[in-house]
Amino acid sequence: MRAVHLDFHNSPLIKDIGSQFDPEIFVQTLLEAEVESITCFAKCHHGMIYYYTKLPAQHPHLKRDLLREQIDACHKAGIKVPIYISLGLDEEIASLHPHWREVSHDGKLGGSAPLEAGWKKLCLNNEPYLSYVEEQIEELFSLFEVDGLFFDIIHQGECCCHNCLVSMTAEGYNPEISEDRKAFAEKVLLNVKKRLSSFIWEKKPGCPVFYNAGHIDPSIRSSLAYYSHLEIESLPTGGWGYDHFPIVARYARQLNRPYLGMTGRFHKSWAEYGGYKQPAALEYECLRSVAFGAGCSIGDQLLPEGRLDPEAWKLIGDTYRTVARYEPYLQGAKPVTELAVLMPETEERIDEAIAGANRILTEAQYQFDLVDSKCDWSRYAMVILPDCIELDQKLANKVEEYQRQGGKILASYHSGLQQGQFLPSWPLKYNGESEFDPDYLLPLSPWQDLGQVPFVMHERAADVESKAKWLAERWRPFFQRSWRHFSNHFHTPPEGPLNRPAAVMWDGGIYFAHPLFTIYRRHGSPIAKKLVLAALKELLPEPIVVSNAPSTAQLLLNYQAKENRYLLHILHYVPERRCDVDIIEDPLPLVDLKVGVKVKQPQRVYLLSGEELPFKYDSGRVWIELEKMVGHELVVFEL
Ligand SMILES: [Zn+2]
Repeated sequence: MRAVHLDFHNSPLIKDIGSQFDPEIFVQTLLEAEVESITCFAKCHHGMIYYYTKLPAQHPHLKRDLLREQIDACHKAGIKVPIYISLGLDEEIASLHPHWREVSHDGKLGGSAPLEAGWKKLCLNNEPYLSYVEEQIEELFSLFEVDGLFFDIIHQGECCCHNCLVSMTAEGYNPEISEDRKAFAEKVLLNVKKRLSSFIWEKKPGCPVFYNAGHIDPSIRSSLAYYSHLEIESLPTGGWGYDHFPIVARYARQLNRPYLGMTGRFHKSWAEYGGYKQPAALEYECLRSVAFGAGCSIGDQLLPEGRLDPEAWKLIGDTYRTVARYEPYLQGAKPVTELAVLMPETEERIDEAIAGANRILTEAQYQFDLVDSKCDWSRYAMVILPDCIELDQKLANKVEEYQRQGGKILASYHSGLQQGQFLPSWPLKYNGESEFDPDYLLPLSPWQDLGQVPFVMHERAADVESKAKWLAERWRPFFQRSWRHFSNHFHTPPEGPLNRPAAVMWDGGIYFAHPLFTIYRRHGSPIAKKLVLAALKELLPEPIVVSNAPSTAQLLLNYQAKENRYLLHILHYVPERRCDVDIIEDPLPLVDLKVGVKVKQPQRVYLLSGEELPFKYDSGRVWIELEKMVGHELVVFEL
């Protein structure tokens, strides 16, 4: 799937809206760029409507029935046009009904302050506003063949507006407690999704519907029934960063919905008129979506006068013509994975421990998923509980059952604790937190090749005792650096063993006392990564993909059942911090690459170009060699 999300937010002060729109040029541009679907606007954040409507908020300078012309022209050319409605932001409504805005518990109105340029956030616990939205949906279905609906800004803060106070009190929530306000806000969002999807599906069963919150995490479970598919909004240079998409994608693909990765053609972020990304960056972001088995969506915007930006469309076209070559290898492609990382329940968009785990495993070319407690873990040889996975009874039972069935656990720091004690089957006793931050770690047999020195560990460890096999031990510094006493510029040097383990192995898995994943995320410490990889070598001795690729290369294996073939995507683009954002300017070469993939013996192996690739099959692994590739390559193993 090659989609475009065509933003179109225009102040009512902007003149000549759509005056230069030319349906033929519009569609010709889309066709040349091999676009299959383009999301166009019914109502923008300004609350302005872009077709001839009976509703009062038609843009005052709309020069033509723009959305109708977009839909008619695209449908003639076989291009889908999902319709965009801004929900949480509507400046027109916010100015007409200021009391419909969110109100925080300390009385601040949601969104921008009165003297700031910016959006004002509406409360979604609001019957008249939702009726207004339904009225518009009704109108859209009466006017157009609707290909889908995309609702934006599906957020609800801990609102204490009059309506929310009345509803919370009536429904037994205590507005004085933050947790209650959050729980009520979740319920408001659930009600909105349930109400709108039911309304839409009554008119057109199966109509695509998506609710965008700029992120997807396990909290989506309760309302997943109201989504037809998922779109992962993730503009790496627009505040999301390059680590956001793979983390969300590795989880979203567990949810049994088709999904898209949405980036933007903007150099920085949405609404950047005259800002264009480096071509290699957009190519990487889209091909990464493909490698994750996701469709592609590129965010662009229509110019107010209704023209497509020619520079943007050169970029989009060049990218999508490359993506189109991968399309036959995307249909029905499923990731082939061997291990999973359990996501914590967190309000952060990216949890630090998860980000560290994602980095380490990606850099070492492991094939893995991110899962929640409701996923089926039985298909994984091991599950990682990174740093902060404390257990309730249900999760404790799930971990123990998984281990009873032979699954291995790699846990660190607080993971595995249940009310201050480790699971009864784990040979670990928790004494609280280490008195030292930082302390040191000395690798023991058989890990002595990691180095026979005490390594500094830049975050506080759990103080643990264990009679199981120690793989590393903790060392103390002479004293904790503080205002009372210090030595030298940085932390205090190592003095000797603490007589406490830093890593322990037993039948069920391996436990580390330090938060290694957070350490890797915050400090990039080589030893944190080496320790995790040493543990993986013990617990998962035969990974699916092995190679001599550098840590900057990404290798992702998929399988297409219908075609009975494995697909190895190889990507080599390296984001570099050149300013406040990470920049990709060049696709980078990989030379003399050797890869071994644990699959059945293939009939033939070939590249994206169709060129045959010689291979060897040895002990259940097919081996290939690539003399040189630049940026991206696909290796197809046909069984
Ligand atoms: Zn409210």
